[in-house]
Amino acid sequence: MASRKTYFISDLHLTEDRPDITHAFKLFLEKYMTDDVDALYILGDFFEVWIGDDNHTALTIEIASLLKSISDKGIQVFFTHGNRDFLLGKKYAKQSGMMLLPEQEIIDLYGTPTVILHGDEMCTQDVAYQKFRKKSRGWWWPKLMLAMPLSYRRKVAKQARQKSIESQKGKPLDILDVTADAVLDMFTKHNVKHMIHGHTHRPNVHTIEKDGDTLTRTVLGDWYSQSSYLVVTDNEQTLHQGRPFTG
Ligand code: MN
Repeated sequence: MASRKTYFISDLHLTEDRPDITHAFKLFLEKYMTDDVDALYILGDFFEVWIGDDNHTALTIEIASLLKSISDKGIQVFFTHGNRDFLLGKKYAKQSGMMLLPEQEIIDLYGTPTVILHGDEMCTQDVAYQKFRKKSRGWWWPKLMLAMPLSYRRKVAKQARQKSIESQKGKPLDILDVTADAVLDMFTKHNVKHMIHGHTHRPNVHTIEKDGDTLTRTVLGDWYSQSSYLVVTDNEQTLHQGRPFTG
């Protein structure tokens, strides 16, 4: 009997400027969202930017209908916010047939308790970013932002993007990666031995030996120059990287 499957993706950074990525995502869904799939987990930065569920564009409408067709087939679709799309709300989730997850969630992955998250909270060396993260995920900042007119939010998003490009230029690359301490803390906090996250665009499967246990941290890749996904069955997991889907 064929195994059931669960898929994980993150960091597609979907945007009107990159129709090739949207196309690759479409091909991914067509090829892999088959009857033997239990769930699709989207672990953040699915969109390059999200300024509110009221910002309807050709892209957001197309993606919602693609996702809806997946959940209508009986595949559960889950969404964890990334640092780019943390304002994605209940309305859009409903329209897309997806369930929003908290920033860290423990799932039972065919018998293996696994913590899933976007991962940006583990980049603790980037102090300026963590400060912004704390503010922007608080209760008042999203409320205030979403109360502003769309035109204003578009402007702010554009400026923030520019600022982020500027600030990353000066940052050494290791500041943009997770820290070993934050990773260990995350394993301890949730008392699990498996973690799946994205954000760093450094796809890999890391193992850490600690107190006789083997901890596994699976990092998803981005879709800027590849189509990266993780597929898990009841007896193995495979992290796919490589050429973007075309055709
Ligand atoms: Mn990210």
